[in-house]
Amino acid sequence: MLDIKNTAADAPFVDAAELHAMMDEVSTFGGGPGGAMTRLTLSEEDRAARDWFAAFIKREGLKLEIDVIGNMFGLLDWAGPDAPVVMTGSHLDSQPNGGRFDGAYGVVAACAAVLALKRHVAATGIKPKTNIVVVNWTNEEGARFQPSLLGSGVYTGEIDLAFALARTDGDGVSVGEALDMIGYRHESAPPLPAAYIELHIEGSDKLEQAGLRFAAFQRFWGATKFRLAFLGRQAHTGPTPMAERRDALLGAAYLIADLKTIADEAGVDLHTSVGRLEVYPNSPNVVPAEAVCFIELRSGSAEVLAKAETDMNAAVELAAAKAGVGFEIRAVDRRRAGPMDPGLVRLAQETAKTIGQETLLLDTIGGHDAVSMAAVCPSIVIAVPCVGGVMHHPTEFTSEPDRELGVIILAGMLWRFCTDGNILEQR
Ligand SMILES: [Zn+2]
Repeated sequence: MLDIKNTAADAPFVDAAELHAMMDEVSTFGGGPGGAMTRLTLSEEDRAARDWFAAFIKREGLKLEIDVIGNMFGLLDWAGPDAPVVMTGSHLDSQPNGGRFDGAYGVVAACAAVLALKRHVAATGIKPKTNIVVVNWTNEEGARFQPSLLGSGVYTGEIDLAFALARTDGDGVSVGEALDMIGYRHESAPPLPAAYIELHIEGSDKLEQAGLRFAAFQRFWGATKFRLAFLGRQAHTGPTPMAERRDALLGAAYLIADLKTIADEAGVDLHTSVGRLEVYPNSPNVVPAEAVCFIELRSGSAEVLAKAETDMNAAVELAAAKAGVGFEIRAVDRRRAGPMDPGLVRLAQETAKTIGQETLLLDTIGGHDAVSMAAVCPSIVIAVPCVGGVMHHPTEFTSEPDRELGVIILAGMLWRFCTDGNILEQR
């Protein structure tokens, strides 16, 4: 049941019953009571869901390709070998005891959109100018194997293949072994697309709060993570005079307070934290010799993130000087912040407007495969609400009308590429 006009007369018709039937089918693979979903990447449940996706691809006459890390692609090459390609999809893996819609909705939506486009071409006789690829990425979640975004990271070249295949789960099974166990390691992948569009559930409650039903993510947040050790001198907390103490934990304390100030001064665009502290020897009556801080800086702006790092370095120097201790940086991990493609954001807004929907512009703080893809081609995540903002939990839920709305807009965006070619180049 739709409370919006399904589509303008010249846009593809999304069959709601077909969409919901596919969502229900995929939800059986790893589905449990109360909406629970446990479909860890490369598990037997994941294999079953992959087999379903492969069957869809073959049944609809798309070309199935599976690459070296198990990413699955279905190419609808109806515009000829020289035509641009637009890719859409998401991931079929889930968290343990997670929900049904995170990722899987995006893959099912891609399938439903392809069906709508094919019907539309058959009905109108219009010759498409763009090929479509549907995709299922391996290990988006990072639940069984770390890091997350493994499949899309290998596809874009950001993650080394040998490194990815050697990652092991809690039982010591490697990604390579798990791929072979379910028969999903091959060597075929399509070239980079002209654009990547991922439809996802929102994962927060900003749409609900705004009273809207559709969002486009215009930025993705980056993170800079430091493991930093303050180095003091171990001593008895009783007799050692205060002036002679070199207290590593005191250095950490000054820094933790200063990081909060750095975030306060930057405004809402910066999150800072020390979420873990390792103190040595960690005894009530020993002045700490070492305090290791696990620091995170996060922002949607590369500039804000870079400034936060500079400010943090100054704060570390100051904290160490005040406490009379040394310090060393033991590890740094940087995940870049950046914009989603502005042309795709505009296309999402325009397409939503044709069916009377306003687009809420959001940032994504968590990871998505579209964040990997943004490094190599114009990319975007578009989103529909999830009730209460709940994700990664059995109660994760997106209503049927909202699921339909997302696919209607996705199909509409894809159709614009089909009728106009690579519209991003033309803007
Ligand atoms: Zn997801």
